[in-house]
Amino acid sequence: MRPIQMVDTKTQYLKIKKEVDDAVLQVMESSSFINGPAVTAFSQSLSAYLGVKHVIPCANGTDALQIAMMALGLQPGDEVITPSFTYIATTEVIGLLKLKPVFVEVDRRTFCMDPVALRSAITPRTKAIVPVHLYGQAAPMEEILQLAKEYNLFIIEDNAQAIGGRYHFSDGTTKMTGTIGDIGCTSFYPSKNLGAFGDGGALFTNDDALASRITMIANHGQSKRYYHDVVGCNSRLDAIQAAILSIKLKQLDRYNAARRAAADFYDQAFASCASLTTPYRAPYADHVFHQYTLLLDGINRDELVAYLSERQIPSMIYYPVPGHLQKMFGLSANSLPHLPVTDWLTERVISLPIHTELDQEQLSTITGAVLEFIE
Ligand SMILES: *Cc1c(COP(=O)(O)O)cnc(C)c1O
Repeated sequence: MRPIQMVDTKTQYLKIKKEVDDAVLQVMESSSFINGPAVTAFSQSLSAYLGVKHVIPCANGTDALQIAMMALGLQPGDEVITPSFTYIATTEVIGLLKLKPVFVEVDRRTFCMDPVALRSAITPRTKAIVPVHLYGQAAPMEEILQLAKEYNLFIIEDNAQAIGGRYHFSDGTTKMTGTIGDIGCTSFYPSKNLGAFGDGGALFTNDDALASRITMIANHGQSKRYYHDVVGCNSRLDAIQAAILSIKLKQLDRYNAARRAAADFYDQAFASCASLTTPYRAPYADHVFHQYTLLLDGINRDELVAYLSERQIPSMIYYPVPGHLQKMFGLSANSLPHLPVTDWLTERVISLPIHTELDQEQLSTITGAVLEFIE
């Protein structure tokens, strides 16, 4: 049996090696390392795949979030509502831009922003909402859109963990996650569902004016060569990464289906286990299982992690400290938001290996070990 890993990018690569190697060599020979045809081609294919008018590539997912907030003209002190139960990048950029993160509660089933908590967090200073499609499960966008409309707020979707997910609206229409709000942000970090062989990221929007602002900000605030209208940054997607991503994009639906098949296997194995809650699949979206995250009830998590680790089975806690408790925000005891669901989830989540290359033998080894520990 191949060693079990949280992510197996090596085996995935070997299956498309020839195509990837050729594409990389072609970029090397072209000497077009910055922007150029490989980057344009990838942006165009991604925009066609997502059904979104503009895809603006950038250096990583964190930059994408930062550029989105800059492009929307958010000003120091503006309040941005975001879940605390997310990867730090979502909330860190809010702090970096001197905006005020307003941490809201998540739903214990979806792990995503709770629309009821969202409504009560809105104040006259609120400017934007940043829902996160955590673990590959979409946030309830229909409710979030409704509130954004009612209070005239921007929506920036953090789609770093959910690329390729389809969202089904109650009127029968479907949109890809990341193309629903004003701006969608994603990451091509190697372990993401659409992963490069290094860093990468992108922003999506259907708004022409926003798209040109985003493009300008990602390129030193430049309107034409050497004319810089606003303070921006330097955030580009590498041509080599773009060439690789074009190849992997063609596999994305298959990759997400493979993740879903692994999740199905886990769900079935754990179905009759009262101490494990398997991931909820919201009816409004296709879960793309960036992570497969269980909730433990009455099980010692540290002991389970150690038990699996002794059997060469990795597992991870995403994330051991929620945003509102991170030292970087320096919230004092009396200014801490009350987020009991977030705290409750933080203590109970555990993520098992999930990726496109898990075989039946690996999956039964993992489920066997988890069940053995519990019984
Ligand atoms: C990975 C990730 C990011 C950041 O992406 P990078 O490319 O690592 O900067 C942002 N938000 C979420 C939810 C992520 O999982």
